[in-house]
Amino acid sequence: MKLLARLSLFTLIIVLVTALTTTFFSINTIRGIIYDLNSQLIQKDMDNLQSFIEGEYFALQKHGLENVNTYYQKVLSRIKREINSNYTDNFKNIIVLDKNARQILFVGPDNKKLQGENASIIHMNTVNIHPVKIREQGEYVYFYKKIPQWKLGLFIVVNKKAMYSRLNDYIDTIMAGLIIIIFMALFAGFLFSRYLVAQVQEILNQITEIKSGNLTARIKNISGRDEISEIKKGLNTMTDIIAEKINNQKLAEMKAQQLSLFDPLTNLPNRRMLMERLEEEIARNYRHKITGALLFIDLDDFKTVNDTCGHRVGDLLLQEAAKRLDSLIRKEDLACRLGGDEFVVVLSDLSPDQMTASAQANTTASKILEILSQPYMLEGQQHQISCSIGIVLFPEESRDSHDLVKYADIAMYQAKNSGKNTIKQFSNYMQNILEHRLYLQNELRTAIKHKALSIYLQPQYNTQGQIISAETLVRWKHPEKGFISPAEFIPVAEESGQIHALGKIVMSLVLERLQEILAGEVPESFRRVAINVSPWEFSRKDFVDEVKNLLDKYQIPADFLELEITEQTLVGNFSLFAEKMKQMQKMGIHFSIDDFGTGYSSLSYLKLLPVNMLKIDRSFIRDIGIDKNDDAIVRTIIMMARNLGLEVIAEGVENKKQMDFLLANDCHLFQGYYFSKPVAVDEFIKQLMDNNKNND
Ligand code: C2E
Ligand code: CA
Ligand code: CA
Repeated sequence: MKLLARLSLFTLIIVLVTALTTTFFSINTIRGIIYDLNSQLIQKDMDNLQSFIEGEYFALQKHGLENVNTYYQKVLSRIKREINSNYTDNFKNIIVLDKNARQILFVGPDNKKLQGENASIIHMNTVNIHPVKIREQGEYVYFYKKIPQWKLGLFIVVNKKAMYSRLNDYIDTIMAGLIIIIFMALFAGFLFSRYLVAQVQEILNQITEIKSGNLTARIKNISGRDEISEIKKGLNTMTDIIAEKINNQKLAEMKAQQLSLFDPLTNLPNRRMLMERLEEEIARNYRHKITGALLFIDLDDFKTVNDTCGHRVGDLLLQEAAKRLDSLIRKEDLACRLGGDEFVVVLSDLSPDQMTASAQANTTASKILEILSQPYMLEGQQHQISCSIGIVLFPEESRDSHDLVKYADIAMYQAKNSGKNTIKQFSNYMQNILEHRLYLQNELRTAIKHKALSIYLQPQYNTQGQIISAETLVRWKHPEKGFISPAEFIPVAEESGQIHALGKIVMSLVLERLQEILAGEVPESFRRVAINVSPWEFSRKDFVDEVKNLLDKYQIPADFLELEITEQTLVGNFSLFAEKMKQMQKMGIHFSIDDFGTGYSSLSYLKLLPVNMLKIDRSFIRDIGIDKNDDAIVRTIIMMARNLGLEVIAEGVENKKQMDFLLANDCHLFQGYYFSKPVAVDEFIKQLMDNNKNND
């Protein structure tokens, strides 16, 4: 509106100035015209009067009376009469002078008052001028005409104002016209300004829209080809260009973002996006005191699919699994692919109550477990896969996104370890165990380095009470914690890979002492020592060589060595392990299956392996006479061993009742506290010698 005001003021001034100037000039022109008109009328009158006078003169002359004063006087009075009756108003101002303009012969009625003043002027007008001499002086206009024959001068004095007397007749019209013109001009100016301002305003509005980021706005209805229309068109084109540029930029940004935040194979969000979103979720849940859950999903044995069916099928399976995951979760939840066969689902807005939230998370996890284990049709072939899921609740367990992923991963591992295709939830209890394991790992490293490990031997007996062999059990006396159970640190050693060093130490220790024992007087019944071998050790390529080297080093005949392996050792690379066992059996090494009955693998493998003995697991022996099922199991194992031609030993025999049961069921070998606890090697040697004496 500022512009409108300014433009309006500007037009107002212009219009006023123009109108006033026009008026000024037109009034002046009209004045001039009226003046001329008047003076011409006066001259005309004077000419007429002159003709009249000259007519009179010629009449006298004709009769030769022109110089006769009486006639002259008569004529003069006739002129006076003529002036008074016939002639116009102008003659009210007339002065008739004598021939030398020295004497006033007659004065018009209106000019009497001017008489005195006029005398001086009359003197100045003695010049012979024809036809009319006009002269302006002061506020008067003087008209002078000489009539030589009569030696007369006609002299009219008119007030200047009177010259313009008729102007007033026009002035009202002029003023009215002027006012109309001014108003019309003002109105036109206003309309014009308004139009101009409206055009400018349209342009301004468009600029404001662009500035505020609205690039869909355009100036509409541009019809003309004038400059303003061109500006508008130009502005629209500019907006088009900007919009397109920004659009392209946005597309590029989106693409880049898509690439940086999404997994290209499955189109699920990737780890980066997960971490970003997770952090927001943690903060939000913490603020609103609600619970969320992070589900860590790992496909079971996906590697097998990849290895046997190829990566293409593997990729297709991952894509299908991703689709299923995405279809299952709610809109507010998030499913991402961490990489490989690992997925994460973040559940939002669970119940504030931990127990309920946990139940909700587990329900979703079960659904995921089910949907992912549905058959997959890939390239015309049906595939099946299961998964293991770890759950962690937040912010309860942690408010750190990295910790949460780690915890869920730990829980997932726990699920894998307990047989796959299951769900495990992370808890601080589990975390404590983990921290303790980490601590043990470090401590164990020091122990191995400083040879702080020792061995105990637990004798094994036959029905005659003779020591026929002994199981080697590792012992670790921690400087602060005292003895730590191998049940606790062996899994840690396995996890951290320290089991190889540990196994070697144990074997060296026992073979070294065995060399010593064998060098002395050994009872005939004593046949060998057994060493526990963990699956990890056994799977090592150079395991056979290492054993052989140690046997050589301590010059121990191979059949003095028995290796205890668990059924678990054989799961997976059965043929490879069987091959290794056969190789070692050829050397003379014995094999026993430890903890027999707890594994879940098929029994048929026993026929295919060079196994010498089954060790009935402690848990079955413990419940002899308490749990009928265990009684049956023990009986069955003993029978089966007999049928397969294998030896069988009961471990963990603690009382006579168990012993009697075993004897009654044809078990001939025993190990357990009922006979002896594991003892230091020196103590064992003593027992061995005593035993020998007793049995003699
Ligand atoms: P395992 O092979 O089943 O070893 C027998 C375990 O039963 C030993 O526990 C032993 O002390 C215990 N035991 C023996 N008789 C009785 C009994 O009458 N009653 C009860 N309640 N327990 C009895 P330990 O020494 O704590 O060893 C635990 C486990 O650690 C072993 O179980 C074995 O799997 C592993 N282990 C021990 N030493 C070694 C080793 O040098 N290498 C490897 N790889 N594993 C070892
Ligand atoms: Ca054992
Ligand atoms: Ca055992």
